[in-house]
Amino acid sequence: MTADLAESKLIQGRTGAWEIVIGLEVHAQVASKSKLFSGAAVGFGAGPNEQVSLVDAAMPGMLPVLNRYCVEQAVKTGLGLRAEINRTSRFARKNYFYPDLPQGYQISQFDQPVVGEGVVEVERDDGSSFEVRIERLHLEQDAGKLIHDLSPSESYVDLNRAGTALMEIVSRPDMRSSDEAVAYFKKLRTILIYLGTCDGDMEKGNMRADVNVSVRKPGEGLGTRCEIKNVNSFRFMQQAIEYEARRQIEILEDGGKIDQETRLFDPNKVETRSMRSKEEAHDYRYFPDPDLLPLVIEEAWIEDIRRSLPELPDDKRKRFMSEYGLSAYDAGILIAEQARADYFEAAAKGRDAKLVANWVTNALLANLAKDGHDIEASPLKPEAINELVGLIEDGSISSKIAKEVFDRMWAGEGSPKAIVDKHGLVQVNDTGAIEKAIDEIMVANPDKVEAVKDKPQAMGWFVGQVMKATGGKANPAAVNDLLKSKLGV
Ligand code: ADP
Ligand code: MG
Repeated sequence: MTADLAESKLIQGRTGAWEIVIGLEVHAQVASKSKLFSGAAVGFGAGPNEQVSLVDAAMPGMLPVLNRYCVEQAVKTGLGLRAEINRTSRFARKNYFYPDLPQGYQISQFDQPVVGEGVVEVERDDGSSFEVRIERLHLEQDAGKLIHDLSPSESYVDLNRAGTALMEIVSRPDMRSSDEAVAYFKKLRTILIYLGTCDGDMEKGNMRADVNVSVRKPGEGLGTRCEIKNVNSFRFMQQAIEYEARRQIEILEDGGKIDQETRLFDPNKVETRSMRSKEEAHDYRYFPDPDLLPLVIEEAWIEDIRRSLPELPDDKRKRFMSEYGLSAYDAGILIAEQARADYFEAAAKGRDAKLVANWVTNALLANLAKDGHDIEASPLKPEAINELVGLIEDGSISSKIAKEVFDRMWAGEGSPKAIVDKHGLVQVNDTGAIEKAIDEIMVANPDKVEAVKDKPQAMGWFVGQVMKATGGKANPAAVNDLLKSKLGV
């Protein structure tokens, strides 16, 4: 990393430059049909309390039974994060009382998580990259939901979410700006979606982060951190970190000190505010859950899971660069979503891959975004882009005309070939026709012909005229060659 880049991440205060330090605790709901310790269904949109077993409701005498598939998903995620899988781990009770947690404790993992240290490589927008170390990944139960706005006098509880499996993925404090934190969160989300271990749907709360922020003068040890709870959008994360860093810098520059506390981000006011201080923090009195045996994972099972891993985003990006000759930037855009990468590969079959990448990353993505479609639901299939690029490659149409054809395809006019035929858009490669157009323009504009002798840049005017005369269909390379020889420039 260059010094300039490091400098640019610092925040200027009254007393000099400050560095932000960020670590994330990400909660990702495990993609699974049933809950972590019960057979109740997991799903969005069910009526209140329709997905609650006696175990989830913590009826007396109910015992948890570990869901093997949720463990498999956690191991898979650990392997995707290049992390150590702990052959033996243990579930622990985290004790606190809250009405959305009928057991009175949450089953989590404490000193022996299922996944240990790992690492995530994160790309910045400028193409450089940095690493974020993973401290651990553990499995735990989610809580239910309290509803306070249905009645002026009563609160309701919906336990559908109670007992749903979460993976808590804890990073080291390795990020140094809000951009880096958001980039890491995005990358983590992409990896989970590729693995199929979490759907990454942040609007449904299936992925959210507790954001730990501190500030320090460059070169100093870590400052006291504040933890911002339950941040569930990239934009809120960016805003919360920036606000929180500024708040801490102001306190420190006024000679104060930071109280370690838990804070909430208010998206309407774009500020964080105190929720509880360290003194009020819960004493969870963790202890091993006596209802559950230690979790022992066979090496052979880990190897089976390893073999089932899909191609991960980093590997796909490298392959797109080497196999298709794409830039890191284009490859990065294409691999950001699995479906996008698949679309590109289907469209690129037998074609100039760089040209295809351009059409996908520019025209197609822009139109999808404008009309609010996911690429899975794209009105243009990969075969259509493949055909369009084929027409450019064999000289049937110019790139400029191709844009017109693309717009007509988007408007539903049919296949590229049909559109080109219907509107007579085939490129004029016939040099005789182009020469005729040039001659006519030269005869009609002797002054311009004179002028271009002293000023060769003026040839651009002629190019424009020829294009106009041929309805934009003349082969641009042929026009240029012929003009040069006829005008003598
Ligand atoms: P605890 O066990 O109290 O939750 P951890 O040491 O596990 O604390 O850290 C929780 C999260 O806070 C981790 O993601 C870690 O990277 C982050 N973190 C720890 N110290 C700091 C700090 N000084 N500034 C920013 N983030 C920090
Ligand atoms: Mg913690």
